[in-house]
Amino acid sequence: MVMLITPVTHVTCMPKDVVCGMEVGEDTKFKAEYKGKIYYFCCEHCLKEFQSNPEKYAGS
Ligand SMILES: [Zn+2]
Repeated sequence: MVMLITPVTHVTCMPKDVVCGMEVGEDTKFKAEYKGKIYYFCCEHCLKEFQSNPEKYAGS
């Protein structure tokens, strides 16, 4: 019996796209800074959506 060691690929601290809820890598080019915090997005659409209404997505 061959034991396969599965590498841990799921990192729970991945940043989340607050617009669509998708996990995104920190290397994404779609990011925005709001109130000193960096937000990451999966695509330009989500980035634009956030920028047009940051209060809605950034929370308190
Ligand atoms: Zn998105």
